[in-house]
Amino acid sequence: MTTIPTLEDLEGRLGDLSGKRILVRTDFNVPLDDDGAISDDFRIRAALPTIEWLTERGANVVTASHLGRPKGKPDPKYSMAPVRERLAELAPGVELLENLRFDPGETANDPAFVARLVDGVDGYVNDAFGASHRAHASIVGPPQFVPSAMGRLLQKEVDVLLGLRDKPRHPFVAVLGGAKISDKLGVVEALLGIVDSIVIGGAMCFTFFAARGLPIGDSLFEPDMVDTCKRLLDEASAKGKTIHLPDDITGVDAGGNFATFGNRLGDGCKGFDIGPGSAAAFSDVIMDARMVFWNGPMGMFEDERFAAGTRTVAQAMADTKAFTVVGGGDSAAALAQFKLDDEVDHVSTGGGASLELLENGDLPGLQALRGES
Ligand code: ADP
Ligand code: MG
Repeated sequence: MTTIPTLEDLEGRLGDLSGKRILVRTDFNVPLDDDGAISDDFRIRAALPTIEWLTERGANVVTASHLGRPKGKPDPKYSMAPVRERLAELAPGVELLENLRFDPGETANDPAFVARLVDGVDGYVNDAFGASHRAHASIVGPPQFVPSAMGRLLQKEVDVLLGLRDKPRHPFVAVLGGAKISDKLGVVEALLGIVDSIVIGGAMCFTFFAARGLPIGDSLFEPDMVDTCKRLLDEASAKGKTIHLPDDITGVDAGGNFATFGNRLGDGCKGFDIGPGSAAAFSDVIMDARMVFWNGPMGMFEDERFAAGTRTVAQAMADTKAFTVVGGGDSAAALAQFKLDDEVDHVSTGGGASLELLENGDLPGLQALRGES
């Protein structure tokens, strides 16, 4: 695998960066509250090391990002204006283009859109880790036309996540939860090849319960994925790996009242969190590990009644001596809510991207920077 050019390599190719126009693809896809204000500027701050490295050398930095999911046409709801305002405070004088997804050419990877992006540009930097698993125009296009490099954030993310794959320390534990079950089952399969055990909570566990023939009441699950889960459970035991499922669950009973169940839920019951026994068992697994990757909350933590499981796991992530990595927007938000985000080794800015990099060891955006697309 050829290596990916760094900012220093870009400077080597372009010479003096002073006055050079550098397009930086950032991931400014920030969460917005109901009034359209930025509720967390983590992703803007995460791009500053790259932006500052370039501006210190006199480059004219033009940043570009998508925000939300506009349908290929301008939508005031997803205007970059609030981001532009915050960026002006953090990095004065840095330009920010309008939402890339206001143009259908972005997601379609349209060559005409790529041509517009690189027009008048001397160099390109990809620092948008969270978007690098997509073969979109602004991610894979520019490296075909102008000297290109990865930014500091992308570099850090790739180092950490590929480090998990290539230099695992054992016991290596993956903790998975959240609601996007079908998106995440592919990574379960890939993780079975590198980890020693997988801990499963969140809504995800109910599809595994169903695969084991356990009644799940009205809990969220994906019927189409039950067979896949069966196969994954068989594959794990064939490989001598452990999949830990919760043996108690909290949620609401058929009357809508808070309740604690074992691992069998009666008709009308709904599971919204792992129970206290499972939270303690999961945290023991995390405490005994030497490397932990966590993606997806253990329950519906936005509701305080169902935050306990996620809080216990987050605390174990903070307390363990293991090298700890957290990926996923909601998992990162949960950590921040519990004020534990500084207590883990790495919080990834990419949910889907971190899973895909772990799964495949590569991303379309990285291939493009290596000149392979
Ligand atoms: P991440 O963003 O960390 O990858 P996901 O987006 O997959 O995580 O899932 C996060 C969402 O899953 C949260 O909004 C949480 O409320 C929800 N969730 C977790 N467990 C359950 C459950 N048992 N029932 C319903 N929703 C759940
Ligand atoms: Mg999410």
